[in-house]
Amino acid sequence: TVGGDIVLDVKGLSKYFGGLKAVDGVDIAVRRGGVHALIGPNGSGKTTTLNVLSGLYKATSGKILLDGTDITNMPPHQRTAAGLGRTFQNIRLFRSMTALENVEIGAERPGNPLIGAGGDDALTERAMEALTFVGLGARANELISSFSYGHQRLIEIARALAANPTLLLLDEPAAGLNSSEKLELHELLKRIAGQGLTILIIDHDMTLVSEAAQHITVLNFGRRIADGESMAVLRHPDVVSAYLGT
Ligand code: ADP
Repeated sequence: TVGGDIVLDVKGLSKYFGGLKAVDGVDIAVRRGGVHALIGPNGSGKTTTLNVLSGLYKATSGKILLDGTDITNMPPHQRTAAGLGRTFQNIRLFRSMTALENVEIGAERPGNPLIGAGGDDALTERAMEALTFVGLGARANELISSFSYGHQRLIEIARALAANPTLLLLDEPAAGLNSSEKLELHELLKRIAGQGLTILIIDHDMTLVSEAAQHITVLNFGRRIADGESMAVLRHPDVVSAYLGT
């Protein structure tokens, strides 16, 4: 890592679908360590932003710097190698494989500084460490199908963590979780941030966001309408009216 306070610097990011400005000149500065949330009503451009950040979509214009490296035009696998980890809104685990095997796939990312000359043993060790970190180490050898939905989400996060990312993008991790699973997720986010890792989370679960994130950026109709310290942002009149649809 190249020091510096800002891990992810997004400048004037736009993504148009034909005439529709899904993301329109958005700036986001994610500080190192802690949780930064990207929120906004349905259709405000959150998922599109995340997909442009991870390289699934090509930006129409703007710049994305990850730890000072311009990743704007990199294909997704290069961004992963550069230290960008992500999870998806819909769980993407191999159901016929064990939890550990799924997480090992994450650890295999090229450029993972934790995997040196150790080969497969180091991969397995790293994967086990990540599973233990999310609280599922004891169930490492069980098939994905034997885990609850909430625990599958935790395994997905473990898979992303195993790659030792600089920045972890989480796409609606609380979606479909019950309240005790949400608590577990919240605890995990705190522990991840406690390790000095940086998380950018997209969610419309305001409770999770207000408790877990120190910094919030709010989108509405593809534009940034508020940005700053969480409590101040959530009280911002433009944010309140965007959520109430007034
Ligand atoms: P959010 O995640 O905040 O709900 P999205 O990023 O999914 O918002 O959508 C922002 C806008 O872009 C919406 O108007 C949506 O219909 C549109 N959109 C998203 N993806 C596409 C696509 N692949 N093609 C065309 N329009 C899209």
